[in-house]
Amino acid sequence: MTPITLYNSLTRATETFAPADPANVRIYSCGPTVYHYAHIGNLRAYLFTDTLGRVLTWLGYGLTHVINITDVGHLTSDADAGDDKMEAAAKKSGQDIWAVADHYTRAFKQNLKDLNVRDPARFPLATDHVEQMIAFGTAIADKHCYRLPDGLYFDVTTVPQYGLLAGTREDGPAEGRIETVEGKRHPADFAIWRTSAPGENRQMEWDSPWGRGAPGWHLECSVMSRQYLGDHFDIHTGGIDHREIHHPNEIAQNQAYSGSADTGATVWMHNNFLVDRTGKMSKSSGEFLTLPALVARGFHPLAYRLMCLQAHYRSELEFSWDNLAAAQTRLKRLVQSVAALKARGEGKGAAAASPYRERLAAAVADDLNTPRALPVLDELLADKRVSPQDRLAALANFDAVLGLELLTLTREDLRVRPESAGIDEAGIAARLAERREARAAKDFARSDAIRDELAAVGVEVMDGDPMGWDWKVQS
Ligand code: AMP
Ligand code: ZN
Repeated sequence: MTPITLYNSLTRATETFAPADPANVRIYSCGPTVYHYAHIGNLRAYLFTDTLGRVLTWLGYGLTHVINITDVGHLTSDADAGDDKMEAAAKKSGQDIWAVADHYTRAFKQNLKDLNVRDPARFPLATDHVEQMIAFGTAIADKHCYRLPDGLYFDVTTVPQYGLLAGTREDGPAEGRIETVEGKRHPADFAIWRTSAPGENRQMEWDSPWGRGAPGWHLECSVMSRQYLGDHFDIHTGGIDHREIHHPNEIAQNQAYSGSADTGATVWMHNNFLVDRTGKMSKSSGEFLTLPALVARGFHPLAYRLMCLQAHYRSELEFSWDNLAAAQTRLKRLVQSVAALKARGEGKGAAAASPYRERLAAAVADDLNTPRALPVLDELLADKRVSPQDRLAALANFDAVLGLELLTLTREDLRVRPESAGIDEAGIAARLAERREARAAKDFARSDAIRDELAAVGVEVMDGDPMGWDWKVQS
């Protein structure tokens, strides 16, 4: 087992990771709220947890990873105000709420597959655990909760150091708490259970000691993480927004349940946001980019994966089409180098690939420093002292960490045709063959005309491309 350091949001420090059982590192990641498609910012969160899992596996640790699916309870404001996002989405579309949840859950899982994110051990659904949530609520209700007409609320002053994770103390963060619920004793108090209002027409409802209604969002993660990973597990992850409200609330519940100061997890890790020029990408604003939208513009999903790997997970990453195009070009170069090495076949080498492996390990074991790891790949591929077969073998090994499918991806795979293009691959090939004939016959006017026709449908002809591409999708 190679030692690894990870940044712990709880202590605000980079620490040597010491799992309870290195053969079974237990990780819980807050999953998506399935009222809409995941945007590419959400997907950055799961590319981060996938990298975390891949790095740990590669360094020799065993893993149990759980990503939940939030199909009930998440309100339009994280601080317990507004409508349930799922109910609102179902009402708006006039659809059955279970069908809505199922549709977006499938779409999310497909996104993860396309990004080559490894499946976690489980994807538990919140709605499958309502009974356990009621039992958890019942266990903490007397000592830590109080009733209001619209539900059961958690009193944050009953646990030690509420909000420590957020970097705030008792007063709680002001942001996000503006819409308060009448009767709350403390602005940071939050709902364990939301009792349906008389006449409220909810599609998802359950009976509970606090009336018919639905569980609060924070409760599900305390319950499911405990059920699948135990009272205390190793790593809890989420986007950086969760550091302010959702995770402090989970911690408060865990402490109430265990009757101790234990937060429930040793390391709390948070990925920073993907932003665009207008600010954070958000689902609720309704305007956001999805993975299929990138593909429709001619980008391969793994180009987005590489774009994310080029930034450290704790840094904000700005999305731009130029940035994505640059990542796709970098991926093409890597694929091209692999193809060239494969074509060279067996050969002799004066040096071993092991120093590169050590450098890669040092980078990723330093709080998952993937931007530092990527140049190691380029240098390895270009090092003529290492035999082609050793370079390929080392690359295959590195790809277990990066997940870019470098050994199997082909140039054809990367030539994603944008939806707007009015021609398919076979059509392009036929036009290019005609063009070659025209050029052979020195009919340059015709050759240029074919190039212009292809350009008009979004295909750029590349004469004399150093990487050997004969055409590419215009970006
Ligand atoms: P949600 O579906 O809104 O519950 O979010 C799913 C995950 O995506 C959570 O871990 C969020 O913290 C994370 N997240 C939300 N927006 C972004 C963003 N713009 N960039 C990175 N992660 C995000
Ligand atoms: Zn959660």
